[in-house]
Parts: sequence; structure tokens; C-alpha cells
Amino acid sequence: MRAAVTQRAGSMALLDYPEPPAPGPGEVVIRPEAVGICGSDYHFFSGHLSDAAGGSQFPRIQGHEVAGTIAAVGPGCRPELTVGRRVAVWPLHACGTCYPCSVGRPNTCDAFKLTGIHDDGGLQELLAIGQQHVFVIDIDDPAIAAMAEPVSIAVRAVNRAAVRPGERAVVLGAGPIGQCIGIVARERGAELLMIDLQDSRLTLSRQLGAQTLQWSDAGNVAGFARQWSGPGGPPVVFDATGAAAAVQAMVAMVASAGRAVQVGMSNEEASIRIGLLTEKEVDLLGVSCCDEQEFGEAVAVVERNSQALARLISHQFPLTRAPHAMSFAMNSPTEVMKVVVRCD
Ligand SMILES: [Zn+2]
Ligand SMILES: [Zn+2]
Repeated sequence: MRAAVTQRAGSMALLDYPEPPAPGPGEVVIRPEAVGICGSDYHFFSGHLSDAAGGSQFPRIQGHEVAGTIAAVGPGCRPELTVGRRVAVWPLHACGTCYPCSVGRPNTCDAFKLTGIHDDGGLQELLAIGQQHVFVIDIDDPAIAAMAEPVSIAVRAVNRAAVRPGERAVVLGAGPIGQCIGIVARERGAELLMIDLQDSRLTLSRQLGAQTLQWSDAGNVAGFARQWSGPGGPPVVFDATGAAAAVQAMVAMVASAGRAVQVGMSNEEASIRIGLLTEKEVDLLGVSCCDEQEFGEAVAVVERNSQALARLISHQFPLTRAPHAMSFAMNSPTEVMKVVVRCD
């Protein structure tokens, strides 16, 4: 079978790979149909992912945003997992015994592993995986079904923030994750202000029902957001950029007793006046992937919002052009929203 293999930093090639054996107990083999590419893929591909986040483990078949159909089912799998069913892949593997696992937060497991980062992922014609990692999804277009993974990050973020109906929430960064946070938060009844540098991304946010602001600098953006939200500032702010200035704006604008949620990954450092955290008693919340139940919630969000999510898919390439898809996605930040590789 064919597989797009990241051989070393900056180099991906289409190679002939052995097919996986027949699935063992509790295991399925899926035929990936659509694989989304995201910022963490760019970091891995360039060899810039921090060791904690997976480092650079080459050669590796990337692809953690995966939808496909079931090709074979091993003994002891859930009865709904039948050959031909379309599924979305929950890529997280946790040890089950470390401290975060013991308190019900496997998404921050000390031995955290992601399919497509630490283990081979979806950019191949067949993928063997444990049955607990596949979720049946009722969506006709596999590219939209593959959005379940980025949506699952948004579900986690909105759950961490405990967004309540009628609340005003600000999202810094209107890329795919920011837009997905917007979609999930709006479903929970929030009103949204989306902030980004790029007008094309803000246009999409407006079409999806948000108010928007073009990024200028942290001070101006925080001032505008505090006016928009009414007295005291927005009770919920998400950063989906990982940019230091945006994180500073988030902490500056969030209301006292509010929630500031860090979703964007970054190796940057942001200087923040410590007193802002104590004076405002800010809940500063990090987000890493999601747990099993939240992935199930994400699948339901995708099924309810397929039209909105379809608008986030800006480019599709066949598996044979996966190396081009990766470099195009990395080098075209103003054109690209979500790049999807089609393996079907
Ligand atoms: Zn991703
Ligand atoms: Zn663990």
C-alpha cells in the first residue's frame, strides 16, 4: 500500500509500505479517506515540535485528523463497528495510571501519545488502531468527518471555559481551531467576538455569526473587547494563536473572576504583569486535546454543523500529492484555512 512518509525534517515522500496484518482482539483496520493537516503537523514536519509534544521521531506517517471507513474488525469490538462504516479517529493514547490519568484527565497523560505524531497516522491507505479510538460518524463527506478532531479541541476548550448561554466570549485567532471554538461556543449560546490579522478569516467568522475585530496591538484590542463586552470585560477569552501579544491581550481584557483559556500551542514566552492574575483572580486554563467523552461530543457537533465546517476546508489534495499539500499548507498562510489530503 502507499503511505506518505515524513523521512526527516522537511522531507515527505510517497513510499510503498507493508499492509497491516489482520486486526487483533479489540482492534480495527480502517481505510483512511480524508486527513486534515494542521499547525502541529507543520511543527512536527519541520522538526520544531518540543520533546514534550512529541519531538521529531522520524520516519513517521503523519496525520492525526482522520476519517475513514472500517476495512476489517478484530474480535471483541463494539457491535456498531462493522466493515464499511465511516468513523472519525480519536488520536489520543494515555497510560491510565499516571497522576493526570488517575484524576480523569488522560489528555494530559505523562506518557501522552498521539496517532500521527508519536505513532503512525492517517496518511496511508490502511491504518490499524484500537477500537476505542474510532467513533462512528454520520457524515457523507469524509473531509468534513475529519474535522471531528479539530472540533474536539474546541469542545475541550469550551468545556474548560464552562461557557454559559448569553455570555460574551472573545476568540483571538480565527484559523480552523478559533473558528471551531466559535461554532461550539455559539451552540452553547455565547455571543462571539473573533479577532485576527487576516480579513478573509474575519469575513468567514462574520458569515458564521460572530462579530469581528482586526488585530492591531494588544492594548487597542483589549480596549475594544472590553467595550464590546460591556462593563468589566469579557468573562471568557480564548487564545487560539499562541502568539505572545495575543496572550497578553487575553489576560488584559478578561473580566475579573473570568476565564482565560490557552488553546494555541507555542514555544514563545509572554511577559504578563503578575498582579493582573491576582487582582482579577483570573482562571488561566490550558487545553490539550480532549478526552473520550469530548470526542463523542465533537462527533455530534460535526453532525449538526456540517455546512459551517465545510466552509473551513479550503484545499484538498490526493494522497499522491501529500508532500505538496504539506508544503503548500505551510507556505500559504493567507490562502489556507484547512488543507485536507484525500486518501480515497
Ligand atoms: Zn491538528
Ligand atoms: Zn497517564
